[in-house]
Amino acid sequence: MRWSRYFIPTLREDPADAEVISHKLLLRAGVIRQLSAGIYSFLPLGQRIALKVMQILREEMNAIGGQEFYLPALHPAELWQESGRWDAIGDEMFRLKDRKGTDMCLGMTHEEVFTAIARNEIRSYKQLPQVWYQIQLKFRDEARPKSGLMRIRTFIMKDAYTFDVDREGLDKSFIDQREAYKKIFSRCAIEFLIVEASSGAMGGTESNEFMARTPAGEDLIVNCANCGYAANLEKATSGLAAIDDEPGPAAPEEFPTPGVRTIEDLTTFPGGAESSRQIKSLVFVATIDGEARPVLVLLRGDHQLHETKLTDSLRATAVRPAHPEEIRDLLGASAGSLGGVGAKTRSPKLRIVADAALKNRRNMTTGANKDDHHLRGVDIARDIPVDEWFELRTVEAGEGCPNCETGTLEVFKGMEIGHIFKLGTKYSESMGATVLNQDGKPVPIVMGSYGIGVERIISATVEQNHDDDGIIWPRSLAPFDVVVTITNMKQDDLRQAGEKLYHELQQAGLEVLLDDRDERAGVKFKDADLIGIPHRVTIGKKVNDGVVELFNRRTKKTDDVRISDVVAAIRQDLQD
Ligand SMILES: [Zn+2]
Repeated sequence: MRWSRYFIPTLREDPADAEVISHKLLLRAGVIRQLSAGIYSFLPLGQRIALKVMQILREEMNAIGGQEFYLPALHPAELWQESGRWDAIGDEMFRLKDRKGTDMCLGMTHEEVFTAIARNEIRSYKQLPQVWYQIQLKFRDEARPKSGLMRIRTFIMKDAYTFDVDREGLDKSFIDQREAYKKIFSRCAIEFLIVEASSGAMGGTESNEFMARTPAGEDLIVNCANCGYAANLEKATSGLAAIDDEPGPAAPEEFPTPGVRTIEDLTTFPGGAESSRQIKSLVFVATIDGEARPVLVLLRGDHQLHETKLTDSLRATAVRPAHPEEIRDLLGASAGSLGGVGAKTRSPKLRIVADAALKNRRNMTTGANKDDHHLRGVDIARDIPVDEWFELRTVEAGEGCPNCETGTLEVFKGMEIGHIFKLGTKYSESMGATVLNQDGKPVPIVMGSYGIGVERIISATVEQNHDDDGIIWPRSLAPFDVVVTITNMKQDDLRQAGEKLYHELQQAGLEVLLDDRDERAGVKFKDADLIGIPHRVTIGKKVNDGVVELFNRRTKKTDDVRISDVVAAIRQDLQD
C-alpha cells in the first residue's frame, strides 16, 4: 500500500470533544470518524484493525468447537415478548414498526433468536452440546454515548451461545469460553482481570466480566492483591470486623430529636449516636414480576446502598426511591425519622431487607416512624422482623477482603471488554426449548451466553498501548507490520531503494505501507508514530552504503541494518 494513495486523514491536534486517550488517538490517527452521537465509521486503517480483531475471535471460537452463524439484526417483537424482555428492557432497545404496523426491534443481543433456532431444530440430548456464535452488528440506544468507541449505539459484537443438556455440561462450556477469552485478550495485548459481576437484564445464575484496567474505564473494580479476589463494585462484598455491642436496655427507648433529618445530624445531636451505631432506613419501590412493591432497606449509618445490588438481590427489574407521600402512607413519618421497629405493624405488606453488616447488632439508634423522634437501644434480632439479609452496601477501598483473612481491598477503574453468563434455563423455559434426555423425558436446554465487543477491544488496546507520540499497536492488531519511509522523494537513489525494499518486504509476506508522500521526513516520522505501526524502515543517505535505519515503535530503539538483512531483522523482532 502506498501512503500517497491511501486514505489516512491524521490530525495534528487533539479533537476538542474527545475525552479519553483512545478516543483522541483513534481520531487523530485517522482510524475512525464520528457520524453522529455514539455512531462511528471505521476508515480504511480502522477496518484493517477491526478485521484482525474479528479474525482472532474467529480462531479462538473455532478452536473450542464454535460454529459461526450470521443472524439478522432486525427482529420481530414476538420473540422478545416470549422471553419477557420486550417489556423488561427499557429505552435502550431500538424499536420500530414495519409497513404493516408489526412491532420490530434492532437486536442488542441474540439470546431469543438463537433459542428459537434451537427450539425448532434440536430434539435430543444426542445433538448436544452445541456451541454457536456470530460476529455481527448490535444496537443499543445509550442514554449518554461517550468516550469514543467505549459507549456507542451501534457496534460489532462476537456473541456466542452454548446449549447443554445439564448443569455439568454448562459448567464445562463456560470454562471453555473463559479460557478462549483469556487467549483472545492476551493476543490483543490487553492486561485484564476476570471479575464477578451482576447479570443484570440477561438473567441467569453466574457471570464473569473481563475488565481492562484503565483510568478511562466506567466500571469500578474491587480487588484483593493478596488472594486475587476481584469483583465489579456492583457485586463486590467486603469482610466485616467483628463488633461486640453492649446489650443495651430491655426495650428501645424513644427520645425527641427536633430538626434531625440525616445520619450526620444525629451524630452531633446531644444524646445521638456515631454513624456506625445508627441504622439507615430507606424506602424503595421495586418492580418484581411486573408489580410495584414497597421495600424498607436497612444499612449501617456509615454505609452507602448500592442500588444494583438491591435490584439483583430482590430479583427486581427496577427499583426507585419511594416518594415522600408514599413513605408517609407506609410509615407515618418523613424520610428523616424512619425505622424498622414497628414498621410491619403499620404496613404488614412492607418487605424489610437488611445489609449483612447489621446482623446481630445491639444498642443501635434509628428513626421512630414519628417525625422528630428516634429510638435508642435497638436490638435488631429482637426488635426488627427482617425478612431477608443481603449484601447491599457499597464496598470501599481499605476494607478487608471477604475471601482471605489478611488482604485489604483496593478499588480502581476498569473497562468492560467481555462478559460471560451462565443463563441456565431462563430462555429455554420461557420460550419452550426442550430436548429429550437420556431417560426420554423432555427437559429445558441449559444455556450460556458470551459476548465481546470489537470496538471495546480496540479502545482497550489503545488505552493500554500508547505513548505521547501516539498508538503502539501490538503486531496482532497493527494495520501494517512495517512502514518504509523514504526521507526525500526528490532523490532518485532513495526513492529507488525504497521501492525495491517495499517489494521485497511484501514478497516476504509482510504487510507493508510505503510512505512515498512528498512530505518532509519529520512529518512522515510523526505520522508513522501516531498511527503506531510496529516497525519503520527509514531510507536515508546511508542507503548508498547499503544501510537503512530500523526503528522499533514500542522500544523507540533505532538500529542501522544492512538492506539485505532487513527482512530477517523484522522477522526476528515480530517473533519476540
Ligand atoms: Zn483476599
